[in-house]
Amino acid sequence: MQKIRVESWLNMISNKKVLILGMARSGIAVAKLLIKYQNQITISDIKEQDKSIVKELEDLNIKVIVLENQEQLVGKEFDYIVKNPAIRKDNKAVLKAKELKIPILNEMEVCYDFLPSDVDIIGITGSNGKTTTTTIIYELLKTTQRNVFLAGNIGIPLAKVVEQIHSGDILVLEISDHQLCDMQKFKTNVSVLTNLSEVHLDFHGSYEQYKKVKKKIFQNHTEQNVAILNKSNEDVLKLTADIPSKKIYFSSKEIADIYLDQDKIMYFGEEILSTENIKIKGNHNYENCMVAIGIAKLYGVENNEIKKFLSSFKGVEHRIEFVRTFNKRKFYNDSKATNNESTIIALNSFDENVILLMGGLDRNIPFDTIIPHLKNVKWIISFGETKEKIRMFAEKNNKNSIVVENLEDAVLKSYEVSQENDIILLSPACASWDQFPDFEVRGNLFKEIVNKLT
Ligand code: ADP
Repeated sequence: MQKIRVESWLNMISNKKVLILGMARSGIAVAKLLIKYQNQITISDIKEQDKSIVKELEDLNIKVIVLENQEQLVGKEFDYIVKNPAIRKDNKAVLKAKELKIPILNEMEVCYDFLPSDVDIIGITGSNGKTTTTTIIYELLKTTQRNVFLAGNIGIPLAKVVEQIHSGDILVLEISDHQLCDMQKFKTNVSVLTNLSEVHLDFHGSYEQYKKVKKKIFQNHTEQNVAILNKSNEDVLKLTADIPSKKIYFSSKEIADIYLDQDKIMYFGEEILSTENIKIKGNHNYENCMVAIGIAKLYGVENNEIKKFLSSFKGVEHRIEFVRTFNKRKFYNDSKATNNESTIIALNSFDENVILLMGGLDRNIPFDTIIPHLKNVKWIISFGETKEKIRMFAEKNNKNSIVVENLEDAVLKSYEVSQENDIILLSPACASWDQFPDFEVRGNLFKEIVNKLT
C-alpha cells in the first residue's frame, strides 16, 4: 500500500458497486484491481469469452455477464461505470447511464486515483507515432536512477501495474483519443502531441471533435507542466495556442527547440547526435526520437545514453518490420498501418518495386490520399471487408490487382506474382477488426505465413 494514502482515499476507491462494460485487457485488469478493495464488480461483454478467463474472474468473486443488450444491465444501483474506450458515446448502455446520471469513467481514470500525487506522469498522444515515441521515452528514462513504468494504449493496462508504482516513480503512458474521451481528473506532468491528422472520424463524428478530445492530454495543466509539440503541424499549433503549459517545440522541417540541422538533432542549440547514428529511419522516426530526446533531457539522461540506445533500437514490432528474405524477395510486416497516412509512410520507405497487401475494416474512408505514393507499387493484393473497394482503387490507378478472401491467400498470391528483389509489404491502410481481434494478431499471422513459405 502507498505510504501517503489516507482513509479518505480508501473510502474513495472501495466499497463501490461498479459495472465494467467491455472485457478486453483493460476491463479485466481493472476488475481484478478493484475487487481487491472491497468493491462489488460486474463485468460484461457482448461477445462470448474465453472460459478460463471467466472462471478466473468468477473465482475472484467478480460477476461475469455476456449479453447483447448491455443497456439492460445499467441501473441506479451502480456507483459508476467503467467503459471500454472503444465503446462509442452513442452506445445504448452509455446513453442510459447518462440518463440515470451514473458517472462513466475509463480504466485509466479509475487508476489515476491509485497513483501517489508525486508520480511523474508522461502522457503521449497524437495521430501517429505514439507507440514508437512512448517506447523510446521509456527506454531512455530507464537509464536514470528512478523507477520507470510503461503502460496505457501500448498494450499494458495501467490497472495491471498501478499498485507497483510508488512516490517519486515515473510513469510513461501511451494514451489514445478513445482513452482521452472519458478523462476528467487525470493530469500529466509532461504531455506530448506528436501530430494531428484526420483519423478515427467514424468514432468521433468530426475532425473538430477528434481534436477537442486530443486536447484533453493537456487538461488540468498549469505553467509548471510541459507540453512537447510538433511545430510543423498547423492543427497542433492552433489547438494548443491557449494551453498554459511550458511549451517545447520539435520539428524535422524547420528550426525549433529540438530540430534537424541537416543530419544533426539539435536540442536548444546543443548537438545531441547525427541521424547516421539512429537505426530507425525516416523523418517521421527522427521526429519520434526528437520528442524522446526532449523528455530525456528534462529528466537528465546523458547524451551518451541517448546515442547508445538510438544506435541499436530497431523499432517496434508490426511497424515496417523486416520479416524475412525468401528467394530474393523481402517481406515486411506493417500491420500497424491502420490508416492511409501510415501506409504512405511505408510506401515512401522503399525504392524497390513493391507488392502491397491491403485491406481490413471498412471505415468508409477513401484511399485517394495514397495515389501520389503508388509509384513503386506493381501489384495490390486486397483482402478483408474493403477488398472490392481496393480493387476499384487499384484499377482506377492502373495497378494490377488481385482480390482474395484472407491474409494467407494474400501472402501466397503476392509471392506468386513477385519477382526477384521485390518488396512484399503488408501495410493494410485499414483496421484489422473485420477479421482479427487486433493488428498484432494480424501481423503475427502474416509473419507466421511468411516464415513457413518453402
Ligand atoms: P501509433 O501508436 O500512433 O499508431 P506507431 O509508433 O505505432 O504509432 O507507428 C505506426 C505507424 O505510424 C508507423 O508504422 C508509421 O507508418 C507511422 N508513424 C510513426 N511515427 C510517425 C510520425 N512521427 N509521424 C507520422 N507518422 C508516423
